[in-house]
Amino acid sequence: MSEELITKIYQITKKFSDPLLNQPLDKDNVNLNLICKNKHANLSITINPNNQNKHQELSNELKKALKEIEELLSVNIIFTAEKTLSKPSDDKRKFKSPAKNIIAIASGKGGVGKSTFAVNFAVALEQLGHKVGILDADIYGPSIPRMMGLSGRPEANANHKLVPLENYNIQCMSIGFLIGVDTPTIWRGPMVMKALEQMFNGVEWGDLDYLIIDLPPGTGDAQLTLAQSSKLNGSIIISTPQDVALIDARKGINMFNKVNVPVLGIVENMSYFICSNCNERHEIFANGGAKKEAETSNNIFLGELPLDTLLRVHSDNGQPICALEPENYLSKIYIKIAEKIHLQVNN
Ligand code: ADP
Repeated sequence: MSEELITKIYQITKKFSDPLLNQPLDKDNVNLNLICKNKHANLSITINPNNQNKHQELSNELKKALKEIEELLSVNIIFTAEKTLSKPSDDKRKFKSPAKNIIAIASGKGGVGKSTFAVNFAVALEQLGHKVGILDADIYGPSIPRMMGLSGRPEANANHKLVPLENYNIQCMSIGFLIGVDTPTIWRGPMVMKALEQMFNGVEWGDLDYLIIDLPPGTGDAQLTLAQSSKLNGSIIISTPQDVALIDARKGINMFNKVNVPVLGIVENMSYFICSNCNERHEIFANGGAKKEAETSNNIFLGELPLDTLLRVHSDNGQPICALEPENYLSKIYIKIAEKIHLQVNN
């Protein structure tokens, strides 16, 4: 008997639309919960709390329609915002999330190979089968256009959004495309915010699995803005092995800890050099410093990359080694790091 009544109720509710998903309010709809006891019906519908008027209208009409069922003694409809409120921190973020995962590549100081890492790491993720984009947020020295072999100006589409430039199947957006890589710019706080917001919200990123952000070196406005306004999964810190670089890397780690952005791991770049004449390993800037730093700061050590002319030549020519020679021992190091990060962010 009660089953019959429930079927009758659903026959009516399914003529109405779910305010969140715009799907019929039928028995399969996850946003509708119906409890019918002693011929009293209680309906709870999940809503977006910002549209109260619309919901009142829906409640009135639904009640009126359900009253047509003679044996029903009363109808009670409540709206709940539980499901939409379960992600308040994401909704409040100023920058829309263009990717399932957003990872920032950071370094304490310039010239340690952060952009080279960002580019090859992005290509490595792409080779693992993910859809990847790079956002060059290094507003003080954008080098992603050169390293990705890209130039020109992104065009706006019908939605008035900029379409990223693409190479090696990676979507790229850089402040360098907009202002020219050689234009000296003095960026003040609000301008940094505006430029970054434009590169998030004003760009047609499509559906990305990963957005890799190449941060400027240090711990300035761009880092804080991104940490507070976007939904970062975490950061990867690039450092060379010597003490001066590590001191700055430590500052970076502390900053990310303060703004609650997880450090996904530390990479030591220019760890060693294999001489092509004697085939011996030389530790030009000392070695193992980043690994020790990872241990003392309780972070994951992701791997070490050697100083190798191939890396410099290819990335400076706009051909990341991972794209050009995926079987090269250097590419394999990047791919291993990409695998580790993918596992980490998906667990
Ligand atoms: P950052 O982004 O930290 O300023 P870049 O990635 O621009 O550093 O690298 C600075 C220079 O060092 C570039 O010319 C780059 O090709 C070179 N480079 C980076 N990593 C390596 C490496 N492991 N071996 C050789 N050259 C490297």
